[in-house]
Amino acid sequence: CGIVGYVGTRPALGIVLDGLRRLEYRGYDSAGVAVVNGDQLLTDKRAGKLANLEKSLAETPTDGIGEGTTGIGHTRWATHGGPTDRNAHPHVSRDGRVAVIHNGIIENFAKLRADLEAGGVEFSSDTDTECVAHLLAAELADLPGLGPQALAAAMRRVCQRLEGAFTLLAVDTQAPEAVVGARRNSPLVVGRGKGENYLASDVSAFIEHTREAVELGQDQVVLITPEGIEITDFDGQPADGKDFHIDWDA
Ligand code: GLU
Repeated sequence: CGIVGYVGTRPALGIVLDGLRRLEYRGYDSAGVAVVNGDQLLTDKRAGKLANLEKSLAETPTDGIGEGTTGIGHTRWATHGGPTDRNAHPHVSRDGRVAVIHNGIIENFAKLRADLEAGGVEFSSDTDTECVAHLLAAELADLPGLGPQALAAAMRRVCQRLEGAFTLLAVDTQAPEAVVGARRNSPLVVGRGKGENYLASDVSAFIEHTREAVELGQDQVVLITPEGIEITDFDGQPADGKDFHIDWDA
């Protein structure tokens, strides 16, 4: 339902939670975050209000989650699988390397899931989303390089296999200073900062930090790092988003 991503030099957790709070008006049933700190992927997710997640983060903080400067956050409106802790996003690959959040519906998830399960992948949720985490991990394992470009390339390959409506964000412990996003039939905007960049389903998530935004076009992948924003189509051809200035008061 609501999606936020941050990469920069400040701790990501607070920025991501603030962004999710700004998207709360849309309604949701669960919330979760993933932060990359060095080579560690740190996550927490809870059914219920954002307050439940914040309580969990305060009472049983995952070591180092407050320090990482790359993060993603999600508020979920369940379509596949009940509103439980385990079905909340992010969904993490079995090797713990990537975390994925998703708005929308992956129409062909049943087939993708069956194929992955036939290959020995165990699922830990009932969502349509989880297959994206496992597909992404498989593509990354299959690519020669590591780092932001490999992450973007893997996301493009995965998107070519997906049907339906999706805004996706993913982080990768082998690309600790990057967040990749993708969209089809579901919105995604970039917020342009100085030495930091944002991704969100709606500009209100980052409006207190920047007013310079880029709206992604249909079937595009975007890679953000502290220094840059790179947009391509699903085939890897360079593409342009639509730059705009947010001039209304939030
Ligand atoms: N279809 C996904 C799920 O049920 C995402 C729902 C959403 O857009 O929040 O987990």
